[in-house]
Amino acid sequence: MGKTIIISNRLPVQLQIGNGSITAMPSVGGLATGMKSVHSGSDSLWIGWSGLTDEEIPEGMGAKIDKALAEHGALKVPLNEAEVEGFYFGFSNRTIWPLFHYFMEYAEFELENWEVYCEVNQKFANVVLEKAEDGDIIWVHDYQLMLVPAMVREERPDVSIGFFLHIPFPSYEIFRTLPWREEILDGLLGSDLIGFHTYDYERHFLSSVRRLKGLEVSYNEIYVDNRTVKVDSFPMGIDYDKFHQAAKKQGTSKKKDQSDLQRRLDLHRETAPDSKLILSIDRLDYTKGIAKRLHAFLYFLNKYPQYKEKVRLIILAVPSRSNVPQYQLLKREVDELVGRINGELATVSWTPIWYFYRSVPFENLINLYTSSDIAWLTPIRDGMNLVAKEYIASRTDQSGVLILSEMAGAANEMNEALLINPNNFEEIADSLFYAINMPIEEQQARNALMQKRLARYNVEKWANDFMDSLKQKPEKVATTITRLLKGQVWDNMMSSYQIAKNRLFFLDYDGTLTGFRNDPQQAAPDSRLFELLDRLSEPEENTVYLISGRDKDTFQKWFGHKNYNMIVEHGVWISENGEGFRMLEQVKKDWMDKIRPVLESFVDRTPGSFIEEKNYSMAWHYRQTDPDFGNKRATELTTVVTSLIGTDNITLLSGNKVLEIKSGNVNKGRACSQVLVQGEYDFVFAIGDDTTDEFMFEELPKSTFTVKVGRDKTHARFFIENARKVRDLLAGFIHV
Ligand code: UDP
Repeated sequence: MGKTIIISNRLPVQLQIGNGSITAMPSVGGLATGMKSVHSGSDSLWIGWSGLTDEEIPEGMGAKIDKALAEHGALKVPLNEAEVEGFYFGFSNRTIWPLFHYFMEYAEFELENWEVYCEVNQKFANVVLEKAEDGDIIWVHDYQLMLVPAMVREERPDVSIGFFLHIPFPSYEIFRTLPWREEILDGLLGSDLIGFHTYDYERHFLSSVRRLKGLEVSYNEIYVDNRTVKVDSFPMGIDYDKFHQAAKKQGTSKKKDQSDLQRRLDLHRETAPDSKLILSIDRLDYTKGIAKRLHAFLYFLNKYPQYKEKVRLIILAVPSRSNVPQYQLLKREVDELVGRINGELATVSWTPIWYFYRSVPFENLINLYTSSDIAWLTPIRDGMNLVAKEYIASRTDQSGVLILSEMAGAANEMNEALLINPNNFEEIADSLFYAINMPIEEQQARNALMQKRLARYNVEKWANDFMDSLKQKPEKVATTITRLLKGQVWDNMMSSYQIAKNRLFFLDYDGTLTGFRNDPQQAAPDSRLFELLDRLSEPEENTVYLISGRDKDTFQKWFGHKNYNMIVEHGVWISENGEGFRMLEQVKKDWMDKIRPVLESFVDRTPGSFIEEKNYSMAWHYRQTDPDFGNKRATELTTVVTSLIGTDNITLLSGNKVLEIKSGNVNKGRACSQVLVQGEYDFVFAIGDDTTDEFMFEELPKSTFTVKVGRDKTHARFFIENARKVRDLLAGFIHV
């Protein structure tokens, strides 16, 4: 077992420099805690930026910093000021952050920042590559480092790479606006496992992969070249015990040991026992909807004026990214709004809002969680929202009400909270009213369920689940019986080829000898293909058949001037030694008039699809349709056609983005068998890419070198990665 390498933008260590000395203190954030079981002992290394730019590190301190970090199993990626500006404040926080949180109007598309983002990602990858060895497990974190997986994969194809995105992945309609959308997907697809907080983010990612990269996705697996990338959701939890125990301890602490904040909160309760404390805690970020929440508070007080002087809103806004202009504007907006509301509504004995713009120590956080009757968290968009979970964990007597935005990832697991749409003031006001009046039994019943779930799926479990899933990966691939045609496997095939006296080849056309075109008429053979086929057919030991679902007229037009052997329409027609086509199977075509209108109605209702009519079959192509929609329609059409054809001797074949309905029990497998019995062959080779080729793979004798193009499930013995590699493979036979 190799070591574990964790990579994140920031190291889980705080550096303090003073008087020529340096100290490194471990951070206490959620990620650092969760990773404790993963990042422990000498088998683990955490790579990231130290938080100090090259310019900020005093002369001669570099080595001392490295040593201090090494004591925590950490290694720094040095970054200068310009890099931090372009990579972190620039592309990460002015492009990806707003875009992935659906704030399109804030997203800046600056080429320069993108370039720095690429360079810095490469810097991170280089540090990883210096340390990575075969068998290591690498876990890359978050949106600042989305290119790192592919950069590492390129140099070390054999290590296991996981990636976790801590923010939402937006819908395709948003993601597609990013000028570097494909590069970001390519970067992420370097991973073996990609994790998201929720199924929705996973779904959006898969949809973008399908639409923008045209890759096949089967359930939650993506086939990329010769690899499988698994995508899954792992909702991040909190260190439940830490919050629960701290809250418990605080409940039993003596007055003299209490913090100033706790004393003030207690005083508030004593002087106004009927009033309710409403708490909101967030980083000061536009995604958190703080300004909107303030407006909603005003709306609530206007709708339910009986609660004036009876509720108090505590807003803790933690300073964040204060050198990004949007955040400066937001700060001003929130400051002014709080001032306005307090100015308008305050009485001598009541200030509606207590507003703190700072971060508070852990003890005070617990004070706020345990003293507040309601936690009111209304982000407009939030990857998870840990504050919601921390509030519930801190309610040791199970009292308290959580009002949570349904736009937060946490809402998926916290159904018992009062879920609201942050844009619906009416609903928000009513929820506050409901929360204020919720009977204690109901509060406890709701919180008990949430506590149970949070205690079980805590942050440690989250980290371990992700790691377990990543570790499973190599075993899964190893169990695939179809083997990549290279190395020893390739050598064995070539030896058989060389000693054979009578060789037979079946070569599928579309997707094998040529790539797919949107218009099937455009996939005509090129001169290099003719040359390849000529040379492969040249030795008298070799008999080559092109075998296709195409109609005979097209093949006649394309290959008629050559003496190739051809089987078309899946085996209805055969042409050997340039003698013209004859029927290999007797089939009927009277069913076609019945099926045609059905197919036409599907074409009408599925933009981008079309019908290809052949002599004995009809094909409905849907390569150019929206992928999800096309698949849905294909399933629908399968059901309709299956019920229509009943007991008629008609077969429905599902190919690569095409459904084909054809006469009789004709298939490529039967056709191959008929050819095979005509001679005594001691080397048989068949290659194809889709389900119609599976008939060949199944029907031909076990000793046949059956080769599937692509990574889908197959009956073939071997596979190669994609159509681009087919010609190299065939050229291999020519050059022996
Ligand atoms: N937090 C903190 N100090 C504070 C206020 C909050 O460390 O003064 C922590 C809080 O406990 C929580 C985190 O900041 O763990 C905020 O996480 P969340 O997922 O709610 O939002 P994010 O900031 O990640 O968008």
